[in-house]
Amino acid sequence: MVNIHLSIIGSGISGLTAGCALLKQGYKTTIYEKLNKVEEAGAGITLSGNATRLLERLGLLQQVKSISYMPKKIFIREFSSGNLLGSWNVNNEKDNKFLTLDRRALVKILLEHYLDFGGALEASCEVSAIDPSQGKLELLDGREVSAEIILGCDGIKSLTREHHFDDSKPVFSSYSAWRGIADRSDLPGFQGNDQINIYYGPDGHVVHYPIGKQGKVNFVGVRKSRAWTEESWKKEGFKKDLLKDFDKWNSELLSFMTAPKKVFKWGIFERPRAKTIQKNKLVLLGDAAHPMVPFIGQGGCMAIEDAYTFGLLFSKLEDLQEVFFLYEKLRLKRGNWMQARSRLQARFNHLSNPILVELRKLFIGAISQKAIKSIHSYDAHKEVMKQITG
Ligand SMILES: Cc1cc2nc3c(=O)[nH]c(=O)nc-3n(C[C@H](O)[C@H](O)[C@H](O)COP(=O)(O)OP(=O)(O)OC[C@H]3O[C@@H](n4cnc5c(N)ncnc54)[C@H](O)[C@@H]3O)c2cc1C
Repeated sequence: MVNIHLSIIGSGISGLTAGCALLKQGYKTTIYEKLNKVEEAGAGITLSGNATRLLERLGLLQQVKSISYMPKKIFIREFSSGNLLGSWNVNNEKDNKFLTLDRRALVKILLEHYLDFGGALEASCEVSAIDPSQGKLELLDGREVSAEIILGCDGIKSLTREHHFDDSKPVFSSYSAWRGIADRSDLPGFQGNDQINIYYGPDGHVVHYPIGKQGKVNFVGVRKSRAWTEESWKKEGFKKDLLKDFDKWNSELLSFMTAPKKVFKWGIFERPRAKTIQKNKLVLLGDAAHPMVPFIGQGGCMAIEDAYTFGLLFSKLEDLQEVFFLYEKLRLKRGNWMQARSRLQARFNHLSNPILVELRKLFIGAISQKAIKSIHSYDAHKEVMKQITG
């Protein structure tokens, strides 16, 4: 399949990683991006070993590490006192693949590699329609281009999915996320404040972690809330509303969360679980395939797993139908499981019943660490090779 040209819709983490994975194997790709430039929100992201091991195989990890922070631990705290409930190890001297960083820096590295490898990018170029059986894309500017294989990497609002798979639309998850970037000097004075800290409270949780090496700290504060009425999914919020949402939470934590000049509020959206993620010449990757509530930090990691899996299958197999079949076999189940698992985490984090809160303490620590470790130890490369070599 050496001469096949692949068309990628969207230049987010999934589209750019897929582009890098395919170009590295010698294929030609074009990314169509509706925005006038490749851009990400100014926010943090955590990348666990299941994603960073794949970035290593793509030759990207060293550069990503150079702009990342490598936390050693995750501390779990009680929402009002900040008292420690438990902790997990995420990195050690032998294995340090868990990274926290600025999304903009991650996407910049992916884009630079994509372009260096010779990838084509058409910005300000919205794909308005697809014909997956004929392999055609219609662009908003009126052009029609042929596309031998189409990768739908168009995110949670994916029209590719809506028009060609299950007609589903994103629905409000009943959770909103406050987020901001503060300075390390604003952090609450708890020991270990320079690590990943998660506060569990009734109907909400807050997580903060350093991003990169510039002394900045990202926070996300999740709250269960009523219907999301705003049209925008990411909008600047008012600090007084943040304080209202986190009434009775630790006062030092709240001073930290309101320290940045601007705070933002996102409505978190979901879609039902997909039944299929491939059709004719079209496959779905990343949030287009399995958007998830961001409570175990796996949406971006899944996008990287999808992209790597598709790239490897495509380079190893001659039969396109087999590539699509195995891609779906490997990715549909894992993506859907992660969607459900992420949802479940909210119930665990947000308990309010005092008996259940006490019981939860038994699970924070070794048991939670084991569960999270099993997610982080998944190796998409090995899984593909198992399928191919039997
Ligand atoms: C608050 C929050 C915190 C998170 N934290 C983490 C974390 O710590 N770790 C983690 O792994 N994940 C995290 N995630 C999830 C992660 O951000 C997403 O899963 C990931 O960004 C999805 O990437 P994507 O490439 O699939 O989609 P997107 O990043 O949404 O990219 C889609 C791209 O497609 C373009 N596009 C859309 N339609 C068209 C069209 N018709 N034509 C052309 N272009 C089009 C868009 O402009 C966009 O550039 C978090 C999410 C949220 C909301």
